[in-house]
Amino acid sequence: MQPQNSLLSATGTTIFTVMSALAVQHGAINLGQGFPDYDGPEDVIDAAAAALRDGRNQYPPLTGVPELRQAVAAHNRRFYGLEADPNAEVIVTSGATEAITACLMAVLNPGDECVLIEPLYDTYLPVVKLLGAIPRLVRLSPPDWALPRADLAAAFGPKTKAILFNTPMNPTGKVFTGAELAFLADLIAKHDCYAICDEVYEHLTFDGWTHIPLMTLPGMRERCMRIGSAGKTFSLTGWKVGYITCDRSLAPNVAKAHQNLTFTTPPNLQRGVAVGLMKDDAYFAGLSTSLQARRDRLAKGLAEIGFGVLETRGSYFITTDFRPLMAPLGFNGDDVAFCRAITEEAKVTAIPVTAFYASQDAPGHYARFAFCKGEAVLDEALARLRAWVASRAGRQLTAAAG
Ligand code: PMP
Ligand code: GLN
Repeated sequence: MQPQNSLLSATGTTIFTVMSALAVQHGAINLGQGFPDYDGPEDVIDAAAAALRDGRNQYPPLTGVPELRQAVAAHNRRFYGLEADPNAEVIVTSGATEAITACLMAVLNPGDECVLIEPLYDTYLPVVKLLGAIPRLVRLSPPDWALPRADLAAAFGPKTKAILFNTPMNPTGKVFTGAELAFLADLIAKHDCYAICDEVYEHLTFDGWTHIPLMTLPGMRERCMRIGSAGKTFSLTGWKVGYITCDRSLAPNVAKAHQNLTFTTPPNLQRGVAVGLMKDDAYFAGLSTSLQARRDRLAKGLAEIGFGVLETRGSYFITTDFRPLMAPLGFNGDDVAFCRAITEEAKVTAIPVTAFYASQDAPGHYARFAFCKGEAVLDEALARLRAWVASRAGRQLTAAAG
């Protein structure tokens, strides 16, 4: 048999699926893959359920049902003062995952360079490579994940076509500052590039941090494709409804990419999401307040157990440094081994952060925990980790004494 597509053959199954399967196998609490263990708003679910029963179950329009495109435009205006024509500048996709691929397809030709920022979400790199484009990676460093401006400037050059970046950022919890975005905007304008802005966690920011879409900066409206996700904004990750806002000059190519990927997205879910995006401000504020409380609960507990807890300003995730626990635990492995050990022994699952890096030299002592879970579940996960650390550290001490 002839070899199949070499890029896909060389890509492993996504870490989220691998760790979720391991969690099921070991009966572990899954703080790995980022999905809430509670349902989204009832009115959104009711609207989608009712929509199944009113006879609009055939192919919806290619770029999305009018209700949702209008709701996306209204949401952009309400939260960011961003004006977009719902008929020419909004495209609905089957999840942000499809949106990211569609936006990359819309602008990249083989041989074009695309700047990516590590740590990065796991679909970015394979898709850029599948399109024949050349990734140029820039790395953020813990614990503050500040934008390395000189490295970023050096990554842009005459072949740069686009940058794909994520704020609020998975897995770091970073929220790009206005100054960082202004620096990025300068580079994008100077090099005549496009920006694909993965903003799926736009409403999940904490401690007064607010999300700023790059698209709202001067000169950026025509260059940005801004991506949102109903999965995150309405705690309905299984729905896979994403939405892109971009200038009318970019929208036709984005729509043609969508036409060749999925063509349309289930109409009832789109109509539910339209109801969601029109919810009052209190809903959006409540979403971040409730997640902030979950973040605080998990961060405090992990710190008490002995993890180094990095600051989370946005997203569903806390990144922890497990080095302080290594000596007491007698543990010498890397993050993959650590996440496996806590899944198998403590019965709590996390994601090894090296999964978000392209190369082997990534920092190997960070584990990502998701806090979008019920309080009792977070407490039980912490109790399990505490008991595991105590028992394993106790055995270590006994062994050392013997
Ligand atoms: N981008 C980032 C940074 C994410 O964490 C996720 C998580 N699901 C996605 C995109 C994909 O979103 P969706 O589920 O809407 O495809
Ligand atoms: N975005 C989610 C995470 O980072 C997972 C999405 C997926 O499983 N593909 O955990």
